Amino acid sequence: MKVQLRISALIAISAVLFTACKEEKKGLDLEPIPASFLGLGEDLPHEQKVLLSQDVNFLKDNDHTPPAEIWIATKGSEKLAAANRKNLIDEAKRLLGVQSFSGAELYQWLQDRIGYVVDQSYDLRDRNNYVFLGPHQFENPSICPGCWDAAPMGFTFNAGGAYVVMSNVGGSFYLTGKMNRRLVGARIPGHGVVPVSSFRTGILRVGPGLFKYEGKDPRSVVNKINRLATLFHEARHSDGNSEHIGFPHAVCPRSYPGFAGTEACEDTLNGSYTIGAVAEQVMTEHCFHSGQCDRGDANYLRADYLDSFRRVLDGTTGELDPKPEGQRQ
Ligand SMILES: [Zn+2]
Repeated sequence: MKVQLRISALIAISAVLFTACKEEKKGLDLEPIPASFLGLGEDLPHEQKVLLSQDVNFLKDNDHTPPAEIWIATKGSEKLAAANRKNLIDEAKRLLGVQSFSGAELYQWLQDRIGYVVDQSYDLRDRNNYVFLGPHQFENPSICPGCWDAAPMGFTFNAGGAYVVMSNVGGSFYLTGKMNRRLVGARIPGHGVVPVSSFRTGILRVGPGLFKYEGKDPRSVVNKINRLATLFHEARHSDGNSEHIGFPHAVCPRSYPGFAGTEACEDTLNGSYTIGAVAEQVMTEHCFHSGQCDRGDANYLRADYLDSFRRVLDGTTGELDPKPEGQRQ
């Protein structure tokens, strides 16, 4: 899940925007939903389906290669000697495991990890939303992190004063199945029962905040890149295996104002915050240097990816094996 600070002013701003954007929203409501790999739940508002489909198609239809001479903005990188600095292109390719930043390759990266998107109202505890399908042979059957401490189905998340933009909930179904040694099928509105045989089944739940407009048309490139960065973050939660399945967040210490005590940090070097930030830096720097984003847009996105990089804690456990557990059916 991606967590951002709750900004009370945002509510006031949204109220103003809502009026200002009324005509715009009407237009979006009328737009057809473009074809994409996303299994969009029927419970999602029409305009969110349109925007998310347009976002992934924007990713697919454009090359996103950033300029060659840019350093990756990883935590603390400003303190590193030039010799230790890492080139953004090389490091992003390595972390994402891609050969290039072509639209097709980045689109495929998301497609491998995201299957469905459901509305924030989708309740994991609602017995109508899942079904036990039958006995199943799980990988690493004795390793089920957190399973017996607390029921993973709808496991609670301490977001404190922050709010969840989006979360990857497929893992809860997978772990519930693993705990019971039975495959769980998730009932996705409009898509029937989907067997959750891996975190890679990739069921995302959209929360408040993903469609904030920041005074810009929700279809603007800056908003597309911002939402795509969140998709990359969530998609990473579909990776990992055994004890670190899903690349879970870590609790932020006191030194993180606004997030202290909340699970909005990370103690690995290749988890969701890093992946989301790397993807956002790549897309942002390409956008800025190709003239598609102005300086204001670029700086807004830069602040966002720098914030994500900062969520990586000191004293991390290093990089973890991203190989997914189980296989998507
Ligand atoms: Zn997350």
